[in-house]
Amino acid sequence: MSETLANLSSESRQFPPPEALAAAANVKADAYEEAAGDRLAFWATQADRLTWAKKWDQVLDWSNPPFAKWFVGGELNIAYNCVDRHVEAGRGDRVAIHWEGEPGDTRTITYAELLKLVSQAANTLTDLGVGAGDRVAIYMPMIPEAAVAMLACARVGATHSVVFGGFSVSALSTRIQDADAKLVITADGGYRRGKPSALKPTVDEAVAECPSIENVLVVRRTGQDVAWTDKDKWWHETVEQASPEHKAQAFDAEHPLFILYTSGTTGKPKGILHTTGGYLTQVSYTHNAVFDLKPDTDVYWCTADIGWVTGHSYIVYGPLSNGATQVMYEGTPDTPGRDRFWQIVDKYKVSILYTAPTLIRTMMKWGDDIPAGFDLSSLRVLGSVGEPINPEAWMWYRENIGRNRTPIVDTWWQTETGGVMISPLPGVTATKPGSAMTPLPGITADVVDDQAQSVPNGGGGFLVLRDPWPSMLRTIWGDDKRFLDTYWSRFGAGAGTGDEWIYFAGDGAKKDDDGALWLLGRVDDVMLVSGHNISTTEVESALVSHPSVAEAAVVGATDPTTGQAIVAFVIPRGNVDTEGDVGDQLTVDLRNHVAKTLGPIAKPRQIMLVPELPKTRSGKIMRRLLKDVAERRSLGDVTTLQDSAVMDLISAGMKTGKSED
Ligand code: ATP
Ligand code: MG
Repeated sequence: MSETLANLSSESRQFPPPEALAAAANVKADAYEEAAGDRLAFWATQADRLTWAKKWDQVLDWSNPPFAKWFVGGELNIAYNCVDRHVEAGRGDRVAIHWEGEPGDTRTITYAELLKLVSQAANTLTDLGVGAGDRVAIYMPMIPEAAVAMLACARVGATHSVVFGGFSVSALSTRIQDADAKLVITADGGYRRGKPSALKPTVDEAVAECPSIENVLVVRRTGQDVAWTDKDKWWHETVEQASPEHKAQAFDAEHPLFILYTSGTTGKPKGILHTTGGYLTQVSYTHNAVFDLKPDTDVYWCTADIGWVTGHSYIVYGPLSNGATQVMYEGTPDTPGRDRFWQIVDKYKVSILYTAPTLIRTMMKWGDDIPAGFDLSSLRVLGSVGEPINPEAWMWYRENIGRNRTPIVDTWWQTETGGVMISPLPGVTATKPGSAMTPLPGITADVVDDQAQSVPNGGGGFLVLRDPWPSMLRTIWGDDKRFLDTYWSRFGAGAGTGDEWIYFAGDGAKKDDDGALWLLGRVDDVMLVSGHNISTTEVESALVSHPSVAEAAVVGATDPTTGQAIVAFVIPRGNVDTEGDVGDQLTVDLRNHVAKTLGPIAKPRQIMLVPELPKTRSGKIMRRLLKDVAERRSLGDVTTLQDSAVMDLISAGMKTGKSED
């Protein structure tokens, strides 16, 4: 039988956990055995991390797959778990959020203050007629009120749908309509790239198309002029005047907590539904385990936006349920200068940093000397999420940010999985640069061929999850059929083969000779070159391993001889000259470099040096648009694209380009 997905690269570097961290780690190697021995008992133990108003009767009800119920019969309030209980335990003075505005203004919010804000906001929601079962759209900059708004919704049992603050009128209005939301919570604007960036006009236009919206609650952040209608209410005239007393009511473990749309890398976004008890159990457990969080001493910083699932699970619900102290930053990494992140790490003595490969590669492009100028000695765990991290970017992160001391956790998960699924444990795992390593305790992931057979070590195929997990999506909002079709109908019972329900993640992966997992990008992106299925990730990583390359994206373009041919788009590092013949020579060198690293089969037909790559607003490369360019088609759906000007530059057929922004 032919290979499902080729395994071309190999990696021999390996980094054991630092001894001191391993000795004091929150989670040790025995967790894997414990979970393997009795998976449901393991998750029940993790659910005991939370405070339940009523204990569950059954850990998992999987009698109607793929519709799972976790902690059946249990009741809890999420906001109580994230805020009140820390104050009741005497930790009200602990800082919950060190907030840093882009212009340099700051706020320090303790757990006691957070309780006041969330209670006031909950009272305002009740006044506005919002309660259990209603939907609320949140369209906000990265200010503390965004987290407060989410927690207030959870507190009153309303289901929030956070829409990333960079999205357009149509993206916002279709999401409001899809969820049939009653209320929008927004702000006049936020600061981005050194200036106020308005949000309210987008909301005004969207709300005009959304009759379900009864009220719009507006935080004043920038002070810019806003148009006003009788649906609009200022946050400072309502929430800040409301009573700070609010008694949280418990909700069923399966009460809907939020709807969140996937980032739209592959096509039309899906409204993913998450519920209460299982979700909080897994995000709380994984935040504690994967980052080895010590809430008394750590300062944690996740650089994601609250509009993505990473912001939901690892800025709001995970860290706050664990009583963490965290940094929240409003703006862009290059405002006012390209050292802003390292300034923040140094200023707040950040000890755990969680960011994305796109940012790491951008920092690589900007140059090593920028982080070198800062004291980063407070860092003790580094995380990555969102895309495969190329081994060289991983090494750059380790050397330049971790200073060869700190473990890196490359965490694989999705909006759909709610929480981290595959990741090293920083006190247990000897990591390999570029590998997410193994499923966490309690998670069963596998790589299978097209017959759903587990591939042997050294083989590649499709990433699947074989058992339900607590923070799994419950459905696609309003579209059970799409839920079944997208995730459950490719393999196993949902495909009509066998009794086992198998979740198909949509990503390719391989097992190396030791069984460690390597994510190979989306299955839709796999290239078929002369009969070989080659992953985009492996070719991109080979390109990034060349000292002149900061970022790369490859696609398979139709080719008369090979079926598909590899076309690569490459951003050179900051110090690399690409003018004229020098640039031409570089493209020749890069083609040879890939052939040498992965074998002649993976040698790109063509390399284009470009100044930028098309990315989604969450920073992920959109290969389908590059494929359109490579095949000289007109572009497909660009609505989730971050910067449409990038495509004009690339389509203009740039052969060489400057690496400046
Ligand atoms: P859509 O499903 O609408 O195309 P999306 O998949 O980009 O959007 P997310 O849920 O934000 O939306 O992203 C999850 C995907 O991100 C994963 O399926 C995987 O492709 C990629 N990903 C996330 N973390 C990692 C990681 N550590 N390694 C490799 N890939 C990752
Ligand atoms: Mg996806």
